Formats: sequence, C-alpha cells, structure tokens
Amino acid sequence: MRHSGGCHCGNIRVQLELSRPPDQMPLRSCSCSFCRAHGTRTLSDRNGLAEITVADWSLAEKYRFGSRTADYVLCRRCGVYIGAVCETGSGLRAVINTNCLDDRAAFNQPPAAPDYDGETTDVRLSRRATNWMPVTLR
Ligand SMILES: [Zn+2]
Repeated sequence: MRHSGGCHCGNIRVQLELSRPPDQMPLRSCSCSFCRAHGTRTLSDRNGLAEITVADWSLAEKYRFGSRTADYVLCRRCGVYIGAVCETGSGLRAVINTNCLDDRAAFNQPPAAPDYDGETTDVRLSRRATNWMPVTLR
C-alpha cells in the first residue's frame, strides 16, 4: 500500500507505506488551533513507514507551538502542511496530513476530533512513541 504526495510546488515530497487500505485508515483532525486553521486530516500508521524528502530546506519550515515537542513541517514557498515529526523514545515518528497526498480522496473515513488539551508532555511523548508512524527525513 504505497502512497505519494507532497507540497504544491514540489519542494517537499512524501512517500508512505501503509498497513491497510486508505478507506480503512482512521483519520484525525484534532481540536488544536493549528489543525482548525489548516483543516488537517492526519493519519499515523504505527505499522507503516513514512519518508519526507525536502529538496531545499531553506524553503521548508519546522514550525513549533504549544508544548514545542514536534516539528510541523510546512513549505515556505507554497504553504502546504505536510505533517508533524517528533523525536520519541522509539525514534523519529510522524503524523502525515492526508490532504497533501496525490490520492487524498481515497482516505474517506470521517476524521475523529480528539482533544489533547491538558495532556502532560510525558504522556504526549509516550502516546506519539506508540501511535505515530516511523519516519525518515531527508
Ligand atoms: Zn511547496
């Protein structure tokens, strides 16, 4: 189950290997103000693999906010939000914004809207270590 995508101008590319078909992938659109503003629909497949390739890092932003424990990767040139990356006890992990995938329409589960407000940083990092997907950044 391979999927690819990236930002609009082509500076950032994404490759995904997922363990189940897109119409069975749970999606999330959490209640934080960043997700509200971007209309994100994110996935994380702990049994999958993600690869984010950036042609020119001077045109990519690693935006941090809130607990400042994850990098929200955006293209500075075209503004597309790719996903969030976090260093955890089980290595580098990510969630990917399905809206940046070429076959975004195939991901048709209604997104859940969890509220992570009030979560401690320790709990947040261990949740990501378990639930976010392994990623390599290039
Ligand atoms: Zn771009």
